[in-house]
Amino acid sequence: MLPDRCSVKEDGKQCVNPPEFIVSIISDKDEYMVGVACTKHKQIVSGKIGILQSEGKIHDGKISFSPVKTVETDCVHGNADDFVQIDMK
Ligand SMILES: [Zn+2]
Repeated sequence: MLPDRCSVKEDGKQCVNPPEFIVSIISDKDEYMVGVACTKHKQIVSGKIGILQSEGKIHDGKISFSPVKTVETDCVHGNADDFVQIDMK
């Protein structure tokens, strides 16, 4: 179950773009979905995930972007409740 909006909020407003990438973290043996991003916010999401990882708030591992269409959700852990919300001020 994916959200229908990108995970980024700008000035308190949810980004209205549909998600184009699933953001996931690939660790040794698992892959965790942590959010979705539109093309415009891909870099921002990537940077923010790096910060959250360095703060120990989310799984460690390599950040991966997969086009929404090609994701086989069966082999990816996590659900929309675990997704990070990226707030940009
Ligand atoms: Zn966006």
